[in-house]
Amino acid sequence: MNKKEILDKFSADPQRYYNVNLFEDQGFERKSCKTCNRYFWTLDANRDKCPDHSDDTYSFIGEPPTSKRFDYTQSWKEVESFFVKNNHTSINRYPVVCRWRDDLYFTIASIVDFQRVMGSKVTFEFPANPLVVPQTCLRFKDLENVGVTGRHFSSFCMIGQHSIPNESGYWKDECVNLDFNLLTQQFGIDKKEITFVEDVWEGGGSFGSSLEYFVRGLELGNAVFTEFQGDLSDYKTLDQRIIDMGAGLERFAWITMGTPTAYDCCFGPITEKLIQDAGIDANSSVLVPYFTEIAKNLELYDDLSQVRKNAIKSTGLSDEQINRIITPLEGIYLIIDHIRTLIFAISDGALPSNVGGGYNLRIMLRRIVSTMDRLKLKFDLDEIIDIQIDYLKNTYPELEDTRDDVKEIISIEAGRYDSSKQRMQKIVSKLDKEPSVTDLIRLYESDGVTPEYLKEMKVISEIPSTFYAKLSDLHQSKKQKEQLTLPLEGIPDTELLFYGDDPREFSAKVLKVFDNFVVLDKTGFYARGGGQEPDHGKIAECDIVDVTKHGNIVVHEIKGEIPKEGETVSCVVDSTRRDGITKNHTSTHIINTSARSV
Ligand SMILES: [Zn+2]
Ligand SMILES: [Zn+2]
Repeated sequence: MNKKEILDKFSADPQRYYNVNLFEDQGFERKSCKTCNRYFWTLDANRDKCPDHSDDTYSFIGEPPTSKRFDYTQSWKEVESFFVKNNHTSINRYPVVCRWRDDLYFTIASIVDFQRVMGSKVTFEFPANPLVVPQTCLRFKDLENVGVTGRHFSSFCMIGQHSIPNESGYWKDECVNLDFNLLTQQFGIDKKEITFVEDVWEGGGSFGSSLEYFVRGLELGNAVFTEFQGDLSDYKTLDQRIIDMGAGLERFAWITMGTPTAYDCCFGPITEKLIQDAGIDANSSVLVPYFTEIAKNLELYDDLSQVRKNAIKSTGLSDEQINRIITPLEGIYLIIDHIRTLIFAISDGALPSNVGGGYNLRIMLRRIVSTMDRLKLKFDLDEIIDIQIDYLKNTYPELEDTRDDVKEIISIEAGRYDSSKQRMQKIVSKLDKEPSVTDLIRLYESDGVTPEYLKEMKVISEIPSTFYAKLSDLHQSKKQKEQLTLPLEGIPDTELLFYGDDPREFSAKVLKVFDNFVVLDKTGFYARGGGQEPDHGKIAECDIVDVTKHGNIVVHEIKGEIPKEGETVSCVVDSTRRDGITKNHTSTHIINTSARSV
C-alpha cells in the first residue's frame, strides 16, 4: 500500500473523504490541476492550477497578501490566542531531546510529543483535548539547504493542533473551519488566497486523508485525519481517531512579513545586527527577485547548486554582487539558525559529541565556526546567544534558566574545533584526489574533518547534497542497533513514573537480576539517550551507575550489594543531578576535562 494508491482511492470519493462543511458553506470549488491533475479546493474562480504550479507561487515575497505584520513571536501569540479563544488548551513545548522514544534522538513533529511506542504498537497520551502546542522540532536531513533556500531550518516551530473526536474534541469539519478562520480572521488573509490540496498520510499501521493548506504557493499547514487501519482492500475505523494538524510558525510569520527569506523575520533583532556588523547592504534591490527565484526553482531541481546557478542567471547578478551580498548573507542565516538549534538542544540536556544525536550538534557547531572562518566574519558567539535568548524567551521563558550553560558549552566546543585544525590540516595535505561522498563520510567519522573545513580549504568546491542525509541515516540506524542482547525475554514493560507524578522517591519490585543489572516493575530513573545523560541515585543500598532502555524495559546498572528477585526495594532519584542546570554543568566539566587530555 503506497500513498499514491490511497490518494487515488480517496480522491475518487471526495464526498466521503474530503468534503467538509466549510467547503459547502463558503462555496469552495473542487478542481484538478491543469499541470499535474492533483485535486484542490478553492474560492478563486480563475485558479486552475495547484499551488505548486500556479503563477502566483512565492509572489508574497516583497508583497505580502495581508495587512497585518507579525514576526515569529507575535505570530505565536496570534495563533495561541486564537486557539485558546476556541476552547483549546495551550500547552508548553516538549523537550527537543526525545527521551520517550527509542527510535528518535530528537523531536521531529508535534504529534511525537504524545506518542508512546510499545513494540509495533503506538498509543497516545494527550494532556488535554483539544490542544495547541508550539513544538520546537529538529531535523537534520536538509542541512545543506539551511541559509541558502530562504525557508529551510535545522529547527522550526511546529504549531501542533491536536484533537480526539469525543465529547470535548472535534473532527474534520471543525478542524478545517478553525484553520480557515485562523488564516482569515486572525491573520487577515483573503479567503480567495487559500487553497486546500487533497492528500493522504500513512504510517505506523494507520492512515487517513489530509488537507494541506497553501497561500501563494507556500504550504502553511497540513491537517491530517488519522482514521483507518488495515490495508486498502479491507480497512476499518480506528478506535481512537486523531487530528494531527501541523503548521509552520516560521511560515506564518513569513507570509505576513513578505521578507526576502523566512530567516529575516524569525530570529528577532540578531539578523539585522549581524548583517550590519558584516557591512552587507540589506536593502539591496536584488534580494527580493533573487530569493523569489530560489524559492520557485527549488521545486524544479534536485541539485541545490543548480538552483542557485539558475537564480543567479535569471536575476542577472554579477559575481561581485554574489560575493558581496548573497554569500555572506547565506553564512549569517546559517550561523543564526544553527545557534538557535543548539540553544534548544543544549538547554534540553543534549551535548555535542561523536555519538548518537550529539554528532548533529557537533557538526552544526563546526559549520558555524568554519563559516565564520571562510567568510572572515568576526562574531562574538556569546553575544549572539544572548540576543537570541532575549528574543526566544518571549515564547519559551524556560530558556533563560540555561543561558550560561549554553554559552559555556558552545565556547568549549568551538575551542576544541579550533585546536583540532592543525590535525585536520595534516590529514588534508595527504589527500591526493577530490574525495567522494564515501570519503567525506569516512573523513568526518574517523578523523573529525568536516566538509565545511574542506570547502574552506578549497579541497572541494561544493558539499555534495547527499552528505548530511547519508550521515544522518548512518547515525539513526546506529541508535536502533545500540540495543544490547540482554536476557529480557518475558519481562513486562517497565512502568515509567516520570510520565506521571515524577516522584523522586518510590518503591518498586525487583523483577530480574543478572550480573550487576536490575530490572524493576516500575522506575522513576531516566535512561540515557539522545545525548542525554541517565539519572543517578540509589536502589536499596546500591548506587546507580547507568540506566538504559531496551525496547520498553528499563535496565539499571548498579554497584554494591545486589537485591534479590521478588524483593521490594526503595529507590531515590539524585535530584541535584536531575536538575537541568546542574546536569549541564556536570557535563560541561566532563567535557572540560576530556578537552584538556586531547
Ligand atoms: Zn499541479
Ligand atoms: Zn560551569
